[in-house]
Amino acid sequence: MPSYAYFQKKIVPLAEARINVMTHALHYGTAIFEGIRGNWNSRQEQIFIFRLREHYERLTDGCKLLKISLPHSVDELCRITIDVVEKCGFKEDIYIRPLAYKSSEALGVRLHDLEDDFTVFAIPWGRYLDMDSARCSVSSWRRPDDNVIPPQAKMAGIYINSALTKTEAMQNGYDEGIMLSPDGHVSEGRGENIFLVEDGRLITPAIYNNILMGITRDTVITLAKNELDLETVERSIVRSELYTADECFLTGTAAHITPVSEIDNRKIGDSGIGPATAKLQKLYFDVIKGNNARYLDWCTPVYKK
Ligand code: PMP
Repeated sequence: MPSYAYFQKKIVPLAEARINVMTHALHYGTAIFEGIRGNWNSRQEQIFIFRLREHYERLTDGCKLLKISLPHSVDELCRITIDVVEKCGFKEDIYIRPLAYKSSEALGVRLHDLEDDFTVFAIPWGRYLDMDSARCSVSSWRRPDDNVIPPQAKMAGIYINSALTKTEAMQNGYDEGIMLSPDGHVSEGRGENIFLVEDGRLITPAIYNNILMGITRDTVITLAKNELDLETVERSIVRSELYTADECFLTGTAAHITPVSEIDNRKIGDSGIGPATAKLQKLYFDVIKGNNARYLDWCTPVYKK
């Protein structure tokens, strides 16, 4: 089944959405992207796009930082995305990739005096971390400080940091790397936020620990509070707490909720999926597939019935 893209103000087959080699964003990483999931509900024969608006609000904030003038409002971006996904007609889980970028065919490192454009496409995509649980290591690469490259925005260029981390972890025999902040506190995974379970509470790094404020992170905090009466503490976490936590899991649009079984060759809990992680995972999968009536506001249906 062919994919489609919104490209230069039209919906075209993905194969026709091509840019010139001189495009500014290709050279300097001057782009903001998003990763959004569309979850297939076979009983309802529907794709539900999860927290579509929140992804475009984050993209819009990132564009402010990079001085990208978006040609569309958040409402228009949502509408365009629904149209692209509908045109693709997939009947499976999908991944949606919007990109707002410096589109000038011009060299010169800067943010000003350049043209901007927006594209979005959808592809079928099931699992990302292809495992039931992840073996992690603490990365030798640190997450950049906000005064180096703001980690709050999904800027294309900052993902070199994540790529260095992932490849180091994989080539050392682990599944995923956990980065520390410049001051040595736990920050996040290559493309996931991190949570610990300690003494019946969730603990996760705070905004000042150089993290991306994940939408899945927010989903987990909300579900834990509303549905499990489980409080989340957002604070700095020292490295050694990773090794002694009762449970640990990673969250992200692509990674969903992935339990961590081991960090730096130390087993976490009894190394299977912990009880709090298991409950959250079950709730989360029901919610993202549009099977929990309380959270349907987070789920945008694509196909007209
Ligand atoms: N941190 C980083 C560095 C990421 O790239 C992602 C993926 N967007 C996340 C955390 C998780 O964010 P979200 O839950 O919004 O996908």
